[in-house]
Amino acid sequence: MAQESIRVDVGIVGGGPAGLMAALLLKRRGINAAVVERRSEDQIYRTHRAGILEAGTVEMLVQSEIDSRVLTHGHEHRGTVLSFNGQRQRIDFQDLVGRSVWLYPQNEVFLDLATAWQREGGAIFWSADHVEVHGVDSTHPSITFHDSAEDQRTIEAELIIGADGSRSSCRRLIPESVRTDYFTSYPYAWFGILCEAPPTAAELIYANSDVGFALISQRNERVQRMYFQCDPDTDPEEWTDEEIFDHIQRVLGENGDVRLKRGPIIERTVLPFRSYVCDPLTFGRLVLAGDAGHTVPPTGAKGLNLAFSDVRALVPEIAEFLGRLRGAAPGGGATALEEPLLRYSRTALDRVWKAQNFSYWATNLLHREPGDDAFAQRRRRGEFDAITGSRYGRAFFADCYTGWTGDWK
Ligand SMILES: Cc1cc2nc3c(=O)[nH]c(=O)nc-3n(C[C@H](O)[C@H](O)[C@H](O)COP(=O)(O)OP(=O)(O)OC[C@H]3O[C@@H](n4cnc5c(N)ncnc54)[C@H](O)[C@@H]3O)c2cc1C
Repeated sequence: MAQESIRVDVGIVGGGPAGLMAALLLKRRGINAAVVERRSEDQIYRTHRAGILEAGTVEMLVQSEIDSRVLTHGHEHRGTVLSFNGQRQRIDFQDLVGRSVWLYPQNEVFLDLATAWQREGGAIFWSADHVEVHGVDSTHPSITFHDSAEDQRTIEAELIIGADGSRSSCRRLIPESVRTDYFTSYPYAWFGILCEAPPTAAELIYANSDVGFALISQRNERVQRMYFQCDPDTDPEEWTDEEIFDHIQRVLGENGDVRLKRGPIIERTVLPFRSYVCDPLTFGRLVLAGDAGHTVPPTGAKGLNLAFSDVRALVPEIAEFLGRLRGAAPGGGATALEEPLLRYSRTALDRVWKAQNFSYWATNLLHREPGDDAFAQRRRRGEFDAITGSRYGRAFFADCYTGWTGDWK
C-alpha cells in the first residue's frame, strides 16, 4: 500500500456545497486547499435534495467566476403561494423586499462547483475511506484516509474545515466541555416524491390543511418535487402512487383552481425533521461549515443557503487567520491567532439562529401537530391570516424566505 502526503493551507473534509464553495473561494484569495470526500462524484450528483436558492446564494455562484449555470438553467421565482384549506395568498417577493429566489437543484449546484474545482486543478479525493482528522488542538492538524485506489494518504494543513454534513464526525472533535449542542425534534416528517410530470404551478405552493401539510415544488420541465407531512415511521412503499396524489390534492383543496399534474413516481423518501446548532463552530485548528455545524427542517429552504452564508463569513476570516499565523512572532499567543475563527463562529451563528427561527416558525405555522385540537388548528389559521392578510406580515415572510441581505449576517 503506497503512502503519500501533501501539504496545503487548508484541508477540507466533505465535498458537498460547503466544502467545495470554501475551496473555490479560498483559491480566489491565493489560499491552497485539498478536499476529501467519502462518496463518489456520481453518487453526490444523483442525490436529490435542496432546490431553492436565496438571492445571496445566487450572487455567490455568479460572482465566484465558476461559470455556474444558475442564471441560464435556473428559474427565477419572484414569489410563492401560501395556502390554508384551499384558500391561497401569493407572497410577492419582488414587490415586498425587491429580491427573488431561484429554483436550481442542489445537484446542479454541486456539478457547477465540482466541475470548476477540478477544471482549476484543485485537489480532491472522491470515494475516500477511513477518513480521520488529527491534531486539531495542536499546530499541525492533518487528515488521513484511504483514497479510491486504497492508497493511504495524509493531508497536512494549517487549518481543517469540517464540511462533512449533518452526521459530522469533525463536530465530535470539539470537546463536549467546549461546545453547546442546541437541539429540537418534531413529531412529523416529510414524505418526498419525484414524479415525471410537468410543473403543477409556476411557483411553489406551501399548503396547510385539516389533513396536514404539502409542498408543491419543481425540478425542471419534466420532473416535479412534492412533499407532504407524514409520521416519521412511515414506510414509503406502503403508499400507492394514486394514494399519494389523492392525499396531496386533498391538502390543496379538492375544488380549487390547482389540479395536480400526475405522473410516474420515480423516487420516494421519508425525511425526518430536526433543528440543531453547535456553538461554537470552531475549536483549535478546526472550523465547521454547513450542515456539520447546524441543521434546519426543510420548510424554510435554508440548509443549502446557510452552507453558502457560512462560507461567505468564513473565507475572509481564514485569510486573516493565515495572515496572522505567518506574521506571528515566535511564541505569539494562540488567542490572538484564533480570534478570526471565533469571529467567524459568531457571525455565522447570528444568521443561523435567524434561519432556525424562520424554519421553526414556518414549520409550526404550516403543519398540523398530532393530537392538535380544534382550538390549535383554528388558532393556526388566525396566525396564517395575520401573516398573509397584512403587507407587514407578508414582508416578514418574504424577507426571511429570500434571505436577509442587510448586513450579510
Ligand atoms: C431531502 C432534502 C431536501 C432539502 N431541501 C432543501 C431546500 O429546499 N433548500 C435548502 O436550502 N436546503 C435543503 N436541504 C438541505 C441541504 O441539502 C443541506 O443543507 C446542504 O446539502 C448542506 O451542504 P453541506 O455541504 O453542509 O453538507 P452535505 O451536502 O451533506 O455535504 C457533506 C459532504 O460530506 C461528506 N462526508 C460526510 N462524512 C465524511 C467523512 N467522514 N469524510 C469525507 N466526507 C464526508 C458527505 O458524503 C457529503 O457529500 C435539503 C436536504 C434534504 C436531505
